[in-house]
Amino acid sequence: MAVSSSDLSTAEIDRKFVFHPFTMLADHERSGPPVVITQGKGAVLTDERGIDYVDAMAGLWCVNVGYGRSEIADALRDQANQLSYCHAFSSMSSDKPALLAQRLIDMAPAGMSKVFFGNSGSDANDTQVKLVWYYNNALGRPQKKKIIARQRGYHGVTIMTAGLTGLPGLHAGFDLPLPMVRHTTAPRRLWEGHGLTDAEFTAKLVADLEELIAREGADTIGAMIMEPVMGAGGVIAPPEGYYAAMRDVLRRHDILLIADEVICGFGRLGAMFGSELLDMQPDMITVAKGLTSAYFPLSACIVGQKVWDVLSGAGSQFGAFGHGYTYSSHPLGAAAALANLDLIDKENMLARVADEGAHMQAALRAAFADHPLVGEVRGQALIGAVEFVKEVRDTGPVAFDPALKVAARIVKGALDRGVIGRALPSADTVAFSPPFVIQREEIDRSVAAFRDAADQVLAELR
Ligand code: PLP
Repeated sequence: MAVSSSDLSTAEIDRKFVFHPFTMLADHERSGPPVVITQGKGAVLTDERGIDYVDAMAGLWCVNVGYGRSEIADALRDQANQLSYCHAFSSMSSDKPALLAQRLIDMAPAGMSKVFFGNSGSDANDTQVKLVWYYNNALGRPQKKKIIARQRGYHGVTIMTAGLTGLPGLHAGFDLPLPMVRHTTAPRRLWEGHGLTDAEFTAKLVADLEELIAREGADTIGAMIMEPVMGAGGVIAPPEGYYAAMRDVLRRHDILLIADEVICGFGRLGAMFGSELLDMQPDMITVAKGLTSAYFPLSACIVGQKVWDVLSGAGSQFGAFGHGYTYSSHPLGAAAALANLDLIDKENMLARVADEGAHMQAALRAAFADHPLVGEVRGQALIGAVEFVKEVRDTGPVAFDPALKVAARIVKGALDRGVIGRALPSADTVAFSPPFVIQREEIDRSVAAFRDAADQVLAELR
């Protein structure tokens, strides 16, 4: 007999009925959620008991302009009243997606031509792969299809993009990656670059890529995908000279470069696009998250002229371009994005990210650089991470036994102290990626809560 849910708490209803993503399923079914959030304003979330938490992760690196922005809520309401939906198949058009596409091309790095809208970072990266395949088929190179990603890169969870993601937890139990995926070395200074200068580390990473291409054959590789600064894989910025050198190799072998700007796009690094800041010069750019600050699920593939020219010339071979979603070019998403981009401009948020980001980086380093559990504090602007290791020897770092769950325990300790952070997968790393509107006092409170939580875990480990 079905159980009536009317007299259950929300936590209890969640425990019984919700299938949570990226969660230990049996643990959740046994214990339920630690908190049930019911409100958000600025950088602060409030649970159903009225307890406040500073959200030091902006949700999942996405609520960039902060919670409760009436400007975006009003734009969504107005758009829903005016035109709640319009598809984009067969040249059908509505006003807001067209205006948004124009705005994205105006603001994107040079050489971009067209915008294809989707619903999430995953489906957008999936689309990028299909575009690469279509491009090479149109050029009569049907064998040039493999996609290179990096170990620890995060590109989504679809059947293709979960494989591109270089984190074993996204492959386990799913028969992934697909056979056309290859991974090369992550630019992780603490581990892969231990003891090397920037120049030596860049040379090693480039040599690894060259070696992979030589092994596979350049004529079998269609594209490489890279986040300007890796997010979920550990908040990893590459060494000096990395993108210029990697780009040279890719160009030499006629391999397209996809910049996955799902986290970095729209200001997280203090510039509109990470690929511009780091001079990646990609052929295609993926954006999502910060495009609407998560007020509506919207993503975009921004396609460069070189790729567009081939795609648009392929109609005589393949007919109408056979790809698109019911919700591609959704007018509500476009209205939310336009209002969100207005806020970023009007409130001069890039300058804010630079100022508050400098403060956050300094505060993280002051709190953690000398902590006995810490291997590295890293990041730039409003994205940062603290990696916990057992020790760092001359030969390199030594990880904790994963069963100790050091980072997860520190995150839990911070939650108990009123701060939400995130333990990243496959490394004892805690990330910080707060809303751009976070107040300085909230940054300080977050860092202090994590330091206290780390001290507590250290005491428990001794
Ligand atoms: N690419 C990057 C760099 C991401 O960080 C993410 C999500 O965290 C994705 C792609 C996938 O986006 P989504 O979760 O919207 O599918």
